Amino acid sequence: MTLSMTAHRDRIGLKDGLLLIDGDWRAAADGGTWTHVHPATGEEMGQFAVGTPTDVDAAVRAARKAFDEGPWPRMRAGERIKAMHRIADAVREHSDELAALIALDNGSPLAFSSIYIVSPDVVADAFIHHAGWIDKLGGQTLPPYQGGDHIVMTMREPVGVVAAIIPWNAPLMLFAQKIAPALAAGCTVILKPSEYASFAVLRLTQIVQEAGLPPGVLNLVTGPGDPTGEALITHPMVDKITFTGSRLIGERVAAAAAKGVRRVQLELGGKSPGIVFPDAPDLGTAAATLMGMVSFGLSGQGCVCHTRALVHQDVYDDFINTASAMAGVISYGDPFDMTVTSSPLINTKQLEKVTGLIAKAQEEGARLVVGGDRPGGDLANGNYVNPTLFADVDNKSTIGQTEVFGPVLSVMPFKDEDEAIRIANDTDYGLGATVYTTDIRRAFRVAQAVRAGTFGINGYNVEPHAPFGGYKTSGIGREGGIEAIKSYTEIKTIMIPTSDEMI
Ligand code: NAD
Repeated sequence: MTLSMTAHRDRIGLKDGLLLIDGDWRAAADGGTWTHVHPATGEEMGQFAVGTPTDVDAAVRAARKAFDEGPWPRMRAGERIKAMHRIADAVREHSDELAALIALDNGSPLAFSSIYIVSPDVVADAFIHHAGWIDKLGGQTLPPYQGGDHIVMTMREPVGVVAAIIPWNAPLMLFAQKIAPALAAGCTVILKPSEYASFAVLRLTQIVQEAGLPPGVLNLVTGPGDPTGEALITHPMVDKITFTGSRLIGERVAAAAAKGVRRVQLELGGKSPGIVFPDAPDLGTAAATLMGMVSFGLSGQGCVCHTRALVHQDVYDDFINTASAMAGVISYGDPFDMTVTSSPLINTKQLEKVTGLIAKAQEEGARLVVGGDRPGGDLANGNYVNPTLFADVDNKSTIGQTEVFGPVLSVMPFKDEDEAIRIANDTDYGLGATVYTTDIRRAFRVAQAVRAGTFGINGYNVEPHAPFGGYKTSGIGREGGIEAIKSYTEIKTIMIPTSDEMI
């Protein structure tokens, strides 16, 4: 039987999406809509508004007014903490509904949505975590440096109106990574989700709004990069742009932010290495984990998937045997079926990109060990590519350097630690990395030598309290932890004379 999502859509009662501007849900100014096509089947799921420049302007003005005149930035710390806790409670109450909407959005299997880092639970925890910083965001008191008696003190203030743009792959978690610290800091926000995953964000926005935010504090504009995203990043009343997405669009966002010297934060792509030494605690676990990162769940469509396996020559063949066996363990199909492990690629453009990179890798001499093809039968209408393993990959080749965002692992051998570090760093990216070894000195040497924002030793994870972000072209700034909330503040220095002598 051919796979279909329409029964799930009808059971869930998917509603068409509107824009949230100044506390009101409304259609786009010109009535324009985007039709969401499910990546597993090509079926139309529903529609949501495409925000025009007029809508974006209204949303930014609402956020501006809420920031300049409204209660949110001026609220007592205790009250804002309570509001953040109400939001967390409301999110937990709607966990199942949100996970189901993600499956309708990007085809993410329900079995995967229960994994902590992409679950509704992590959204609630991010609000709790950042609520905890609200009454601790202090400054410094400094002694006089010269001149008369005086005190110098610093304090943190919210940065202002924030434009937040997120991609489609983990929309709930990415919503939380931006919205929780921005609201905690006292900012007001205009959020734009990806046109390829808007329904879960629409519902989450409604849940957050109804938990008790004043009008204009959180605004939602749906629609594609052009016109909606462009109108947002070029709007002169925005104080800060926080963007998660591709490097290409990230560079465009940074250029737009430069005009008017707006603050900018970028969370971009990666080409993260997993480095496997012969003394790995368990070679099989290392191989299964690295192949699993690119084939389970979102099928390699994760920024920090470790897509390059750098494997010591002494354990190279064993690693490849175990990793290729993993390809047979994954299953595609109905994302609501709890035995389905992995998702399709998000759209036909991404499908073409991934299949093109697989063909190019073969042309450039990589050895195809498993995969490289597409499943047929029931899955023929979906954007599926079978888990693919390339061995003997030249790190300088196209597949060695390009972010694939699909179920492809590139394996390359190394002979010693120096060579492993050199290959690991031979990339424009610097998002994550992991080393597998039982030699603690080597583990720390490699951790310090690899230029990446996050580093795992025999295991890798992302958590709401830990800073996450990239070196090099993987981004600017950090999300998670105190670094996140600080990034939504400005520091003000205040000088106070304590005698008649002028400072
Ligand atoms: P994308 O850059 O195509 O789109 C991201 C967002 O930007 C979407 O909402 C899109 O509509 C919007 N956009 C597109 N053009 C725009 C424009 N001109 N102006 C303003 N907004 C515009 O990325 P994607 O395909 O949605 O996501 C995949 C990318 O995201 C990968 O590169 C992945 O590595 C990256 N990513 C990074 C992180 C991280 O934390 N570092 C997390 C998840 C995904």
